[in-house]
Amino acid sequence: MKQTSLIYNLKKEEYKRFPEQDHCIYRSLYDPEFKHFHKTLRTGMEELVDSGKKGYSRVDLALAAASWTINKHMPFAYKKVAPHSPQDYIPLPVKERPPEDHSPELLSRYIKRAAHFFGASLVGITKLDSKWLYKTKVELYSTSIQEKQELKFPELNLPDNITHAIIMIIEMDHDGINCAPTFLEFAAAGLGYSKMSFLIACMAQFIRNLGYEALPCANDTALSIPLAIDAGLGALGRIGLLITKDFGPRIRICKVLTNMPLEEDDPDVDFITQIQQKCQHCQLCAKACEYDAISFAKDPDYEIKSKSNNPGVQKWYVDAEKCYKGWIENCTDCALCIKACPYSKISRKITPEEFWKL
Ligand code: SF4
Ligand code: SF4
Repeated sequence: MKQTSLIYNLKKEEYKRFPEQDHCIYRSLYDPEFKHFHKTLRTGMEELVDSGKKGYSRVDLALAAASWTINKHMPFAYKKVAPHSPQDYIPLPVKERPPEDHSPELLSRYIKRAAHFFGASLVGITKLDSKWLYKTKVELYSTSIQEKQELKFPELNLPDNITHAIIMIIEMDHDGINCAPTFLEFAAAGLGYSKMSFLIACMAQFIRNLGYEALPCANDTALSIPLAIDAGLGALGRIGLLITKDFGPRIRICKVLTNMPLEEDDPDVDFITQIQQKCQHCQLCAKACEYDAISFAKDPDYEIKSKSNNPGVQKWYVDAEKCYKGWIENCTDCALCIKACPYSKISRKITPEEFWKL
């Protein structure tokens, strides 16, 4: 198997598993050293609704907030252990049978068919490379600022028998991303997250029903981008996101980790080479960013911008702190760079008014 860490340059002595709490979205909740401490996407939302700016109306926000509903209200989706429930339609004696004797090839076919059935746009399988696991995990109950919220960052340890990662891609709505950075963009992101919750919950249950273990994960537990590259789903671009052939960076990534014996996909080396060459000369994402968060350097390097970057990999490091400023000022996750990337295939620009007439 070809591995992403052999295709991209990685300094073994420098690279360490990333602590999940170093992401800006968590640092905003607990780190007083962080310049945007206690500022989240919700900060300033009410004023923005009242500002009269196009794409930030109450209707636009109502759509965005509704789009996150499944993600925010379905904690079962993220449960790493899911006891049998009388609500389940599979009798316990069937569920508790040992797995049937199928080849990795056939099991992989079942997995990929089921992933598409439940709504994945793309799916790939890789061996789980432990270097992409987070070092610690964040335990919290809300990404809103709540005074009594206790945050814990325990070591992340997975059961030893977990060997494979099923990586699933969800396309984000073309017209919503077209309206970046407004609330309509945020609706496309929220819909992507809610679809992730639905998809990982159903896939994990499918695998458990076959007698295997399944750990459903959204952004948590492991870095999704290198796992997706390992699974042959795309390449890392200047933008700092996974670029897929079909939808560019206009996607979300989720995964299920399992002990099911599966057939692995190979990284798409030709596409990785194509993206590395394209990004050297195309700077459209960097030019689109109003917060100077994306590098204009011709070549990728090892220069991190803040503790929210993970050192030791040669790439175009995105300044996550500057990007986060864009998020809190727009009260959305912005995505102007995603809209600008030619691989996102957004050719005709539309306005928020046009979005509602489509
Ligand atoms: S999301 Fe917005 S602020 Fe962040 S890098 Fe992209 S364009 Fe810049
Ligand atoms: S916009 Fe251009 S430089 Fe940026 S990720 Fe896409 S192809 Fe690469």
